Amino acid sequence: MNETTPVAIAGGGPVGFAAALGLARHGVRSIVFEKAPAPALYARAGVVLPRTVEIFRSWGLLDEIRAEAIVPAALNICDALDGEELARLDFSLLRDETFDPEPVFLPQHRTEAILRNAAVHTGLVDARFGEEVVDFWHDPGGVRVVLRKLGEQSTYSVDAPFLVGADGANSTVRTKLGLALEGETYPTRIMLAVIGIEDRRDILPWPRLRFDGPEYLAALRFARGRWRVIAAIPPDESDAAALAHDRIASHVRATLGDGPFEIEWASAFNIHRRHAPWFAVGRVVLAGDSAHLNSPVGGQGLNGGVADAHNLSWKLAFALDGADTMRLLASYDVERRCAIVTSTERFSDRCTKWMLGIAPRWRRPLLAAGGRLMRFAPLARRVLRTGVLLDVRYDDSPLFLARDRWVGRRAPDPALATTDGAILVLHGLDEANANRLDLPRSVRKLAIERQRAARWKTRAPFAALVRPDGYVGWIARHPPREAIERAVHHALGY
Ligand SMILES: Cc1cc2nc3c(=O)[nH]c(=O)nc-3n(C[C@H](O)[C@H](O)[C@H](O)COP(=O)(O)OP(=O)(O)OC[C@H]3O[C@@H](n4cnc5c(N)ncnc54)[C@H](O)[C@@H]3O)c2cc1C
Repeated sequence: MNETTPVAIAGGGPVGFAAALGLARHGVRSIVFEKAPAPALYARAGVVLPRTVEIFRSWGLLDEIRAEAIVPAALNICDALDGEELARLDFSLLRDETFDPEPVFLPQHRTEAILRNAAVHTGLVDARFGEEVVDFWHDPGGVRVVLRKLGEQSTYSVDAPFLVGADGANSTVRTKLGLALEGETYPTRIMLAVIGIEDRRDILPWPRLRFDGPEYLAALRFARGRWRVIAAIPPDESDAAALAHDRIASHVRATLGDGPFEIEWASAFNIHRRHAPWFAVGRVVLAGDSAHLNSPVGGQGLNGGVADAHNLSWKLAFALDGADTMRLLASYDVERRCAIVTSTERFSDRCTKWMLGIAPRWRRPLLAAGGRLMRFAPLARRVLRTGVLLDVRYDDSPLFLARDRWVGRRAPDPALATTDGAILVLHGLDEANANRLDLPRSVRKLAIERQRAARWKTRAPFAALVRPDGYVGWIARHPPREAIERAVHHALGY
């Protein structure tokens, strides 16, 4: 008989282990199959955005992340030529909306290690490195996953109710589903180099941009003594030339000035705006880069993948607990696919086209004009909220009974947006009725006072269901007991 597991996860990158950890937080076991023999040490994504910080807070990872990361209160975008500050992104403007409004800069392999260690330490996650998902079959009853161990010819199988394809841009799971990533690849190739710097240049303000050359060129600090230099590769330059030491050295001089440095890693790559037409097919789901590829401009790629895992994990856990599997999986598909298209793709596309598409002579004056506009706090708040993924909303979902300004939005109370379980928020309703409510056993009731209720911008008595991912699944004013019970069950897939 084949080995079995509640959830099989293809891919041991950040999204695979985020899904495994999210499942474990709901008491669900999983096996993560990673074809590489050991974790990757590539730098890649360098920033954990505030919405992801909320997720990490709800998973108890915040202290560890913060101990290693750099967490600037503001980013001062400046001209690297003369040091003039052109725009300031002041994240403290979001202080009232979230506990940790600042983006956290940490190399991707460290973020991955923290997720992986936390997942494995739950005792519910079996991490199998050197094992590749080579095929699978699925039917309405479950999935049979075919695996091959590194260096072996033979295969073995594992049966699971669910398979999560978190196996990256060249996903085997997505390919076997017959799905392609649809969208566009931007015409410009990008060079990214990770630079080690030990001297006083490490305290220069950043991000640092040059505006006097024909191509985009920037430097960002993402760890102590670590900078990333990003340059658009001119159409007539080969990758080899773009990655040559002298070429990178000229970029370092242009953005950071003269002095010694070390190139730790450098790569030339295409950037994309693509997503799969479906994020769930039967009992097989896609998450992270296997489902969508986003331009790294704006730093939303990895963060979008963690949001997929967070949205998915409670749904798989509830499905395994007897809730309506197909409705929960359909909700994952609709919610996350639309969020990626209308939020992440739109935002990173605008930033990318600004970066690569605007004529060089307009870049500096336009950025300076944008910087002046960002001094207007309400506008700055709006832009920042979008940039750090705090305003991603789910417009449609088979889990929503009725529309409301809050339904499909992150809970307006930071303590609720960082929940790790379902919470029924009650304000001003009859206590005896509330005590008699018949709810799914995982739902916690929370009666709130007027001051806290004000965040929901209503004076009327109300009940609201905050889902385990911190999103509002349902809200009603003056609801009778039966309506609350029906709505809570529906919103959680029961
Ligand atoms: C050069 C570069 C720079 C980037 N910069 C940024 C940035 O600044 N900001 C940002 O947010 N994002 C950035 N990204 C994107 C970010 O790295 C990805 O969004 C993120 O890694 C996605 O995580 P993932 O777990 O979905 O996929 P991956 O990290 O690709 O992990 C997938 C894993 O699955 C494994 N795998 C593949 N196939 C199989 C199989 N058949 N069986 C078992 N295992 C398999 C792979 O070995 C890999 O470990 C960058 C990417 C690149 C390439």
